[in-house]
Amino acid sequence: MRTITLPEEAVFRGSLILVNSRCPYREKDCGIALLPVGGEDHSPLLERQSARFLDKLIDEVGARDRIVAVSGWRSGAEQTRIFETSLAENGIGFTKKYVALPGHSEHQTGFAIDLAENKPDIDFICPDFPSGGICGKFRERAPLYGFVERYPKGRENITGIGWEPWHFRYVGFPHASIMQQRGLTLEEYHAFLKEHAYGQNPLLYGVSGRNIEISYLRAEKGGPSLLEIDDTVHYTVSGNNSDGFVITVWR
Ligand SMILES: [Zn+2]
Repeated sequence: MRTITLPEEAVFRGSLILVNSRCPYREKDCGIALLPVGGEDHSPLLERQSARFLDKLIDEVGARDRIVAVSGWRSGAEQTRIFETSLAENGIGFTKKYVALPGHSEHQTGFAIDLAENKPDIDFICPDFPSGGICGKFRERAPLYGFVERYPKGRENITGIGWEPWHFRYVGFPHASIMQQRGLTLEEYHAFLKEHAYGQNPLLYGVSGRNIEISYLRAEKGGPSLLEIDDTVHYTVSGNNSDGFVITVWR
């Protein structure tokens, strides 16, 4: 066994952090390594690993030039500008439904991307990303590459955001597949994982002959948390952005 020290601020980092109207994004703008989607300089930016998986997914479904990235990472200042512009142009009702409050946007994390079917006159706030055709194919394969449709129809009361079929969030594999199979939003997935305490009853997920164990580790208050883990396993840790960590172990 080895002991890993998780600093207090690690709760607010990682691909599974939950950012919504109740949980602000707490990292500094410069805290993430970003890459342009598709490797082109003028393209929207995404967190490095998310950008690589999005590129692989787009290639796999044959969507290069047919699906375009409209908006990716935003600084806090940019989110404020978008919110204020939308408020002036579209009013409060529309803006509250589709634009997150500055400091509370997933786009500030680098893990969110708005996509559009490539057509003339793409709408910046509500791009067209239909359920069928190439967009449907993308949607179907997205969880295998770690992406979920973050704001589904009928879940507005949970996510606090209107139905956004164009907004995808990278949470990583197998989390995206589990969320899709169980029909869970990210809010619900975190609540569900709290029933799977680390070292007690991990959630088990089997893929290609490997067993993946997913569990929740509560963060120590006022100091670092210690993670005791098997020497031989591959694992990842993500904060949940409120009170603990999601530990994913590959056996
Ligand atoms: Zn978005």
